[in-house]
Amino acid sequence: MTGTAGGQLATAVGSGPEEADWAAAEALIRGLSPDARVLLICHVNPDGDALGSMLGFGLGLRRLGVRRLQATFPGPPEVPEPFRGLPGLELLVPAGAADPAPDLVICFDAASESRLGELADRLSSAGAALVLDHHASNTGFGRVNLVDPAAAATSVVAEHLLARLGVGLDAAIAECLYVALTTDTGSFRFEATTPAVHQLAARLLGTGIRPGDISRRVFDTRPFGAVRLFGEVLGRARLEPAAADRRGLVWTYATLDDLARHDQRPYVLEALIDSVRCTAEADVSCVVKQTAPGEWAVSMRSKGAVDVSRVAVALGGGGHRFAAGFTGRGTVEQVVEGIRGQLDAALIRPGD
Ligand code: 5GP
Ligand code: MN
Repeated sequence: MTGTAGGQLATAVGSGPEEADWAAAEALIRGLSPDARVLLICHVNPDGDALGSMLGFGLGLRRLGVRRLQATFPGPPEVPEPFRGLPGLELLVPAGAADPAPDLVICFDAASESRLGELADRLSSAGAALVLDHHASNTGFGRVNLVDPAAAATSVVAEHLLARLGVGLDAAIAECLYVALTTDTGSFRFEATTPAVHQLAARLLGTGIRPGDISRRVFDTRPFGAVRLFGEVLGRARLEPAAADRRGLVWTYATLDDLARHDQRPYVLEALIDSVRCTAEADVSCVVKQTAPGEWAVSMRSKGAVDVSRVAVALGGGGHRFAAGFTGRGTVEQVVEGIRGQLDAALIRPGD
């Protein structure tokens, strides 16, 4: 960013899609023939926003009469337990069964083609490609791109497009979009929680969905084995107060062996970062999760002193300013050393 005043930055980051982009996206969908084949894809290792925005939009397309509709994501076709109650799951197919050349492909919550894994080829094989996202780092890899970095979640963009298409909210669509919105705003705790976010939440709740049930399922339920695993993994957390120009770094890691010992699936580790990032003495928090021998999925968070997306991009990943990730290689210590090496360059300075 080159802006020198906070106001300029807000304008630049918040600019979002132009009217012409919305109109082009709307035209792509309105122009579909009744037997058109539409493929929806969200990012690898899908979270609540990826699945919720994709399935909510898919249910909206159903309402518009799109019959030949598939939703998918790269990698193993396993939906994390917290999302197994989502409406619209019947739209999901394994990546291997996804239409090789649909008339239209729509991508959700993916900042770059690489996040689409083995499904990235659909961007060229499909008749048209539409991207819905809210990552500032989005590379604009669709033919039509609705990327709004000011949006709290991709579901905000999805809801706006549904509204333009004349699809009103019903409880099923609303539940998907609500899960997406609460996941990406940390249940309305993060900075992106604007009045517009609460207004959208109010519209979603107005359909009669039950926020207590949904939150318990999505955020507040985990197997006992995961509770014990968390205890072990949190018990080995390390605090490095001098890191990041004394703003502090806290980190921990979990191995495949840890998962196996507690008989747990990898998705249970997604919630770990929320316990680690509570650490008062550290601005930056990090969880290093083994995905294969010598390979780690790294989650990073910042409280505002460090732009962790810069750290992630420097290490081959991406994300948002205060929530980002990448794939690390080598030993845990090597991965953390790589992060340490990027922290000073990622400190946010006045005018950034
Ligand atoms: P999480 O830590 O919750 O997995 O991800 C936080 C943010 O970083 C999300 O916006 C996600 O899209 C992004 N992110 C996480 N891992 C990766 C990665 O390996 N590559 C890229 N490009 N982005 C990632
Ligand atoms: Mn998102």
